[in-house]
Amino acid sequence: MALYSRTSKPETYKGDRILTMPRDFFDPPLDQTNILNVSAATLRKAEALIVGCEACSEDAEFPFDTVLDQITGQDPAVTDYVLSEPAKCPRCRGSVVEKTLVEFDPGDSEA
Ligand SMILES: [Zn+2]
Repeated sequence: MALYSRTSKPETYKGDRILTMPRDFFDPPLDQTNILNVSAATLRKAEALIVGCEACSEDAEFPFDTVLDQITGQDPAVTDYVLSEPAKCPRCRGSVVEKTLVEFDPGDSEA
């Protein structure tokens, strides 16, 4: 397993690959806000990370758009999302929209 050939301590990642995304590449012009349409495919991926929503989980403390940030690699400070349809909570089947609080599994697995 070549990937494991290094025996030194693993570096501390902050749990994401987002930091490596060169967002300056987009160089937002006048407006700082980035409106992103969330496709159904992206929505499905986000849904897959949801463990519960504010209606069914006491641990739901992140707005759903945080999950979208994770998936899309966008900067939460400048990104607003427009959902093509509400996501569904896998536990209670409730509707989940941008600002619905959710409990999610940040996972580190490759999509
Ligand atoms: Zn729920």
